[in-house]
Amino acid sequence: MLPRTADAVVIGAGAAGLMCAIEAGKRGRRVVVLEHNAQAGRKILISGGGRCNFTNIDTRPDNFLSANPHFAKSALARYTPREFVNLVEKHGIAYHEKTLGQLFCDRSARDILDMLENECTAAGVEIATRCAVQSVTAGFTVDTSQGTIAASSLVIATGGLSVPKIGATPFAYNAARQFGLRIVQCRPALVPFTFSPQDRERYAGLEGVSAAVAARAGGSEFREKLLFTHRGVSGPAILQASSYWRPGNTVEIDLLPGVDLAAELRGRRASGDRAEARTVAACHLPKRLADRWSAVHVPSMPVATLSDRQIEAIADSYHRWQFVPAGTEGYEKAEVTAGGIDTADLSSKTMEAKRVPGLYFIGEAVDVTGQLGGFNFQWAWASGYSAGQYA
Ligand SMILES: Cc1cc2nc3c(=O)[nH]c(=O)nc-3n(C[C@H](O)[C@H](O)[C@H](O)COP(=O)(O)OP(=O)(O)OC[C@H]3O[C@@H](n4cnc5c(N)ncnc54)[C@H](O)[C@@H]3O)c2cc1C
Repeated sequence: MLPRTADAVVIGAGAAGLMCAIEAGKRGRRVVVLEHNAQAGRKILISGGGRCNFTNIDTRPDNFLSANPHFAKSALARYTPREFVNLVEKHGIAYHEKTLGQLFCDRSARDILDMLENECTAAGVEIATRCAVQSVTAGFTVDTSQGTIAASSLVIATGGLSVPKIGATPFAYNAARQFGLRIVQCRPALVPFTFSPQDRERYAGLEGVSAAVAARAGGSEFREKLLFTHRGVSGPAILQASSYWRPGNTVEIDLLPGVDLAAELRGRRASGDRAEARTVAACHLPKRLADRWSAVHVPSMPVATLSDRQIEAIADSYHRWQFVPAGTEGYEKAEVTAGGIDTADLSSKTMEAKRVPGLYFIGEAVDVTGQLGGFNFQWAWASGYSAGQYA
């Protein structure tokens, strides 16, 4: 049975909501978390390929996108990756750094969820699952499928729009509008691009091929892997670039970062090499990619016969491949939602709505979006922790 009152009601038992509940509970607040799924933390369980990239030890404010890039600083400084690692170590969870400061569980993301649920129990937090919220009124009163609950603090932690099939809803944005907060337009981020029909035809047959590239969009560059898919391109470099991309804009890929292809081709020409450019490119790229690339972009001529102009054009086609994505794979495939509750309407210290005392927004619902690599969870922990000190 849902209690009729609490000190704080948290809607959404995800990363941010659970962290907030733990902190508020530790302060002696009677906290109830409402979750419409049958279990808490479903997104935690599928995160990081099932191993949960739970933080990034190199977290800095510039790993986040927001209309106000300064907003996240306060919470990120208040609750650092080290603090979350301390919690993980206190619970004896084995973890490792995979790459670039990204910390993953050795065993399973389940360890992180168990840890949060155990911390909730220790802090006296009650989690009501299968609890659908029907309406919220000022004061605060929350009508749910399990009855009505009243509380002086209300924390909205229902996340963004990504992956609706595991329970994402626009609840936070609707609640924000209801209470007069503004929304920065939402868009899928950390998401694969789709090709135009023409590009799909051009690059057909490359599905499954990957290469280490530099991907550029919206003035940012990411050096990681690109993966060709049936519908377009994905892989960490593309996911990162997608967060900075806007519809209609060009994406630029360097398929050979750190290689001076023009110099290599000139060198081969000087020695009278009869090989084609694709053979030279295939020294650095999967052969299937070099072959396909040449079929689409490169004249079929021995290197020895290329003019300077042709060499420059060939090198450019590899170093500055430009395409305009038809779009993205959308919220079904997006790891996060960029945009969200306008930070101008929230306190950066407490995450409380400036004009609605007692109402808090945390986690992915807020217009703070991390890059790939554990930053989104770090934001969830940090914003949840901050609100938990006051809710
Ligand atoms: C496939 C995938 C892998 C990811 N891997 C990583 C990773 O390894 N590292 C990383 O940092 N980030 C990762 N992310 C992003 C990360 O999972 C999210 O940024 C993070 O979970 C956001 O936390 P949150 O608490 O704000 O929202 P969520 O974790 O989404 O939690 C929101 C909760 O609210 C509930 N809810 C929604 N609407 C309602 C409603 N109306 N009533 C009641 N409850 C509701 C949801 O069911 C959910 O339990 C991944 C995302 C995806 C999709």
